[in-house]
Amino acid sequence: MKLRILSLFIVFGIMVSFGQEVSSINKTYRSENEKVNSLVHTKLDVKFDFENQYLLGEAWITLEPHFYNVQSLTLDAKAMLIHKVSRDGKDLKYEYDGSKLKINLANTYAKGDQYTVYIKYTARPEEVEQEGSAAINDAKGLYFIDPDGSDPDKPTQIWTQGETESSSCWFPTIDSPNQKTTQEIFITVPSEYITLSNGLLEKQTENTDGTRTDYWKMDQKHAPYLFFMGIGDFVVIKDKWKDIEVDYYVEKEYEEYAMDIFGLTPEMIQFFSDYTGVEYVWQKYAQMVARDYVSGAMENTTAVLHGDMAYQKDGDLIDENTWETVIAHELFHHWFGDLVTTESWSNLTVNESFANYSEYLWLEYKYGKDAADDHWVDEVQEYFNSGSESKDLVRFYYETREDMFDAVSYNKGGAVLHMLRNYIGNDAFKAGLELYLMENLYGTGEAHKLRIAFEEVSGKDLNWFFNQWYFGNGHPKLDISYIYSEDANMVTVRVKQSQENVFEFPLEIEVYEEESPKVYNVWVSKKAEAFSFKFTNKPKWVNVGASKTLLAEITDNKSVENYVFQYNHGKKYLDRREAIVGLAASQGDELANKTLMEALNDPYYGLRILAIDKIDISKTNSKNVIKIVEKLAQKDNKTLVQAKAIAKLGILENPKYIAIFEQALQSRSNSVKGNALSSLYKIDKEAAMTYVNSINDENKIDEMKSALIPIYIAVKNEAKMPFVAKNLIAGMFLTEDKETQNIYKEGFQWVAPSDNEEATQNLVDSFVAFGIRYKQYGADKVTVRTLQQILSLKKESNFTNKDVLIKIVQDGLEEMN
Ligand SMILES: [Zn+2]
Repeated sequence: MKLRILSLFIVFGIMVSFGQEVSSINKTYRSENEKVNSLVHTKLDVKFDFENQYLLGEAWITLEPHFYNVQSLTLDAKAMLIHKVSRDGKDLKYEYDGSKLKINLANTYAKGDQYTVYIKYTARPEEVEQEGSAAINDAKGLYFIDPDGSDPDKPTQIWTQGETESSSCWFPTIDSPNQKTTQEIFITVPSEYITLSNGLLEKQTENTDGTRTDYWKMDQKHAPYLFFMGIGDFVVIKDKWKDIEVDYYVEKEYEEYAMDIFGLTPEMIQFFSDYTGVEYVWQKYAQMVARDYVSGAMENTTAVLHGDMAYQKDGDLIDENTWETVIAHELFHHWFGDLVTTESWSNLTVNESFANYSEYLWLEYKYGKDAADDHWVDEVQEYFNSGSESKDLVRFYYETREDMFDAVSYNKGGAVLHMLRNYIGNDAFKAGLELYLMENLYGTGEAHKLRIAFEEVSGKDLNWFFNQWYFGNGHPKLDISYIYSEDANMVTVRVKQSQENVFEFPLEIEVYEEESPKVYNVWVSKKAEAFSFKFTNKPKWVNVGASKTLLAEITDNKSVENYVFQYNHGKKYLDRREAIVGLAASQGDELANKTLMEALNDPYYGLRILAIDKIDISKTNSKNVIKIVEKLAQKDNKTLVQAKAIAKLGILENPKYIAIFEQALQSRSNSVKGNALSSLYKIDKEAAMTYVNSINDENKIDEMKSALIPIYIAVKNEAKMPFVAKNLIAGMFLTEDKETQNIYKEGFQWVAPSDNEEATQNLVDSFVAFGIRYKQYGADKVTVRTLQQILSLKKESNFTNKDVLIKIVQDGLEEMN
């Protein structure tokens, strides 16, 4: 699963989940579930009652005892109506409490015996109430989107979300990640809809009542949480990897962009097959984009579901395909997660840390190490910001299983794999992955199996590594300082760990007297250690942690001269990045300025953007710097760099740039157009408004909304108030940019007290949707507070439509209860 909400934690003052320490109240040990009966095969026949949002199902479930004899079977079946339970045509006695279905098998089965139970049932996802966190309360397994077709903005769709234990909301099963089963599903739907499920579509039968039955079959066993059904009006774009079908299911509107969004999938399948040494094992690979999806994306075996954030059009795609790493992430789960599955949620790292790290591997392969390291910095920063230092990567104590899907299992775990790869080497790392996969094919994994595979391949003991990184918590916080003794021709590097528990780790130190360094490998194992190196000439740069793979917060005490040398001689993205950040703190210094100016032309576009961002153009006011920024604004081969440069020129508020901004408004790139418009608005409001008023196409307005909304707010464009109201949440809560937050808050102050009914409705609807979706992080409380505030504004007003406005807000509050 890929959660796209991780970064929100930083933004929300009220968000607690990530910052929460492990609850001391709940000390239940979360073991792997005991295997008594094992799933063997699951056959389902399902139909839908759209009006009641029910699934009418029949299940034939084949099982066998795991080891000991059994006389009974307990299945998970949440909020169902059970109509019949039988075996070989004979009714069986059962007890059902709304969650567990306990069946008396009326026979004794021994290991090796297989038996099949038949269950006729009605699944009622809207009745599901799961224990635990708010997030789980919303986990109903089966979702009907606009089931009565009444919403003009939404197509009718049905989709499922099994992880963590919600497949049992739509079919009876043993809903545990350490169970595996093959699968067949007969899905009957109105004939106008397309269906997608796991495995291959074997047969389609038109029925006489306007419905069609699709028969999907999956011969390879997988865990119940990976079962999937997706139903709706989709266009299917056909792609291929070798002789395997690779399909993209999108709404008609995105048909022409589907290849630009998903088209690298076959190359990814090839790359991951090569990297792991295990060729893609499954029968097909399909990806579907659904509406109102509850997560970012989900790795249902051979039938991945993406949220509609995957949808992008030309103007965004030309900047970058922001969904590419998610596509890689879900695909890599088809090795780590679907093929070898975590035995329990406590060991989620063997699924999610690999999927997270696959994003790095893909970027490195496809775009080079700079791009991959850029991504690594973001991931690691997100972990640092998450306040989860007290959480072990492998965690046997947690409040609810959903809590495992956090910056530790994902971001930190990915960074831990990166360190391991650096420590044992790329070839040993790859061989270790292959061994782990081959030994556990179609089975389960846990961190110890990983350790054993890597130890076997590399010949190295890895207990020290796993104990501190997998079964321990936190990370090193290092203060690095240098003492140069010119008398003794010696530099001493002092490495001090300031965190509570001491880490041990290898550290590469490069000492640059000349262009090429002397390399030393040292081992840090104490709270404070010092390492001394002889030199002939005083070193220009001592590069501590030269591999740049250590997961640590580092304070490095370097001079401007050091950073200048580092920028010019460091081979890695992180060398140059550190230097740019370090030099930016010394702007005004001639050497620092000169190097920052050079960084504006860094070969990697991400560092060009960073340099533009860091340079204080109003202070340096150097003609040469501005000249380069002007050039980048017009000619850089990356539109994101152009956009950043245009925003930078906008700060100068110089009328001589009007022509550049007007030219940029013709760009294909939304980021270029958007920043050009914002910049133009600062110096020539009339020209900017002429452009703004020329955009009438709703799609175009939507694409440009991040630039248009601040202007609509500034000029208080009443006609656009409903549109602004619909979009306020994003700018108020879902960005880290303070300026944007303030503009959108001003927008809220404009919309909230108004008498505009449509705007009020949109504002209320968006807050309700936000409150429900991010309830897990306390957004529901924000929504209730805000709606109460809006309500009193309306009550205090003298509007003639006051009652209508009050009713709209009250209905919203009602929904939150
Ligand atoms: Zn995932």
